[in-house]
Amino acid sequence: MAHYQPCPNCASEQAEAIGFTWWGGMVGPKMFTHVKCTKCGTTYNGKTGKSNQQAIAIYVTLWTIFGIVVMTFFPSRNSNRQNNPSTAANQSNISTTARY
Ligand SMILES: [Zn+2]
Repeated sequence: MAHYQPCPNCASEQAEAIGFTWWGGMVGPKMFTHVKCTKCGTTYNGKTGKSNQQAIAIYVTLWTIFGIVVMTFFPSRNSNRQNNPSTAANQSNISTTARY
């Protein structure tokens, strides 16, 4: 079992690694050695013994910027899809002409 730094809140050394978080999915917690104190529930960096709040904030911000960049340079293809009004008008004219 991996040994982590003591909890910054209650100094307990009983901490367990977190496999999944809302902010980092499955990769984020591993990147920051994100662990949870089994005594008080505080989450922190098991390698440094300090809070991961700042790292999480930076991580989320970077992903937000990344998302905006992707949305800007790769817009949805649906926005480029347009109906061709001239083609639709021609088809209705043909059917109208054929009827008379
Ligand atoms: Zn604790």
